Amino acid sequence: MMLSDIEIAQKAELKPITEIGASIGIPAEDLENYGPYKAKVSLKLTRELENKPMGHLILVTAISPTPAGEGKTTTTVGLGQALAQLGKKAMICLREPSLGPCMGIKGGAAGGGYSQVVPMEDINLHFTGDLHAITAANNLLAAMVDNHIQQGNALGIDPRRVVWKRVEDMNDRVLRHIVVGLGGHANGVPREDGFDITVASEVMAILCLADSIRDMKERFARIIVGYTYDNKPVTAGDIHAQGAMAALMKDALKPNLVQTLEHVPAFIHGGPFANIAHGCNSVLATRTALHLADYVVTEAGFGADLGAEKFLDIKCRFAGLKPDAAVLVATIRALKMNGGKAKNELTESDPEAVKRGLPNLLRHISNLKKYGLPIVVALNMFPSDTAEEKKVIEDACAEAGVPVAESTVFTDGGRGGLDLGRKVLAAVDKGSAYKPLYDLSLSLKEKIETIAKEIYGAGTVQYDSAAEKELKHIEDMGFGNVPVCIAKTPASFSDDPAKLGAPSGFTLHVREVKISAGAGFVVVLTGKVMTMPGLPKHPAAERIDVDDEGHITGLF
Ligand code: ADP
Ligand code: MG
Repeated sequence: MMLSDIEIAQKAELKPITEIGASIGIPAEDLENYGPYKAKVSLKLTRELENKPMGHLILVTAISPTPAGEGKTTTTVGLGQALAQLGKKAMICLREPSLGPCMGIKGGAAGGGYSQVVPMEDINLHFTGDLHAITAANNLLAAMVDNHIQQGNALGIDPRRVVWKRVEDMNDRVLRHIVVGLGGHANGVPREDGFDITVASEVMAILCLADSIRDMKERFARIIVGYTYDNKPVTAGDIHAQGAMAALMKDALKPNLVQTLEHVPAFIHGGPFANIAHGCNSVLATRTALHLADYVVTEAGFGADLGAEKFLDIKCRFAGLKPDAAVLVATIRALKMNGGKAKNELTESDPEAVKRGLPNLLRHISNLKKYGLPIVVALNMFPSDTAEEKKVIEDACAEAGVPVAESTVFTDGGRGGLDLGRKVLAAVDKGSAYKPLYDLSLSLKEKIETIAKEIYGAGTVQYDSAAEKELKHIEDMGFGNVPVCIAKTPASFSDDPAKLGAPSGFTLHVREVKISAGAGFVVVLTGKVMTMPGLPKHPAAERIDVDDEGHITGLF
């Protein structure tokens, strides 16, 4: 019987973080320790490394997942460990977990089995406090906006058009729509408001895109918090909030260093969700890792239609990064689900269902090819998978001309990813012709439609009238030349979670759009996707416990 993720993580013998830092060339004086096994890297080091050569960047993405996740984080960690076993100087870059999924349904985000980053309880719970800092900075701005309205409203902010929401790092559906300012004159001006989850906040996106405190502060100043009665944007700069926000975030901006179970160094920094935000860890962490290591393996959230698209069209474009290869994680269970098999029957062998699910895999492959990247399919093996099912996928990959490697990094650690590692190294050697999918000079609608048609397979895009009006307003304000960050369900290429496989010709419904002027993109909400999730009937939190010694159980 294999141990649970948390049992494996708790048995691990960790090395002091200074030793991990030294192994990749980070001097002890550039590490700010948070206990023995976690450290932040100084911004001084990130600056000193700026002109050093960069290693190779490998993106791990996936086919359309089951709600449990198909093993991107596990594969990212396992591949990093495999590359280290193959004698390469490798590093890993991941996102910081949110408490929402930890306490809700999906679980932690520190990998699984023998391919985890540790200490996993810390990483999954409060870690180094970055998410709390983001929450505080976000809510400081919200408080200052409401206070400005209360104290005479010199800027003439229309209380009905405040667009800056409060955030909290928890799935809490009752806060989606609220009224604030009740209780009379001394208690503020009443208005409709709402909470988002912290990882959907523009402050999170800014942390992930800023390259210095100054850049972060300038981006904060550009955040649009609302509109005046005569429809002029009001920014965080107009409210004079950017300095205090940046002060709250000065440590959050520093990348966090931890280790994998096999002591491979890993940065875990920044954590926007990929369904409702841009889905990649921080630019600062990725760049610093590329200056330190020859191979950097990183993950972008959910399926390649969401995570990889935003990684390639937003993050890499903004940061001037040139990814060298993409690893597409596939599982037999997700292919069966995409082939129409019921979610509670995914452990039964059914090669025909795998076959019916193949169009999903093939669509993701042909999408990634549009970005000019060499691709390797990683078949993440589960105990219930059978040889007949595996063969269906291997044959399909052979026909598509894409290398495929079986990966057992979950049960075997880096050793289970050696074949994948060798195939990834060969792909990197082939060279990449990376280019983003669309040109920034296109109109916002053209950009949305390019992604909808080329990546999702949509036939048409339909806009709610408010969204249509707002797109024009955003272009009139001069923000037409930024990328679009589409929020969509991860369960389907379409905006309808029930359309599995590789649907095409459907209509994508754009419900709402908003400008994130500080982050530098337009957020486009489609279908029913929500920026504040809810908890399931039986949240994971019901099973989590801690004993008198502080020993945590039930955290996956
Ligand atoms: P993703 O990053 O794609 O969401 P994760 O790597 O977090 O996926 O994995 C999702 C869940 O599945 C985790 O709980 C992990 O422990 C588990 N898992 C991943 N790969 C395997 C595997 N090969 N066998 C069993 N469980 C796995
Ligand atoms: Mg993950």
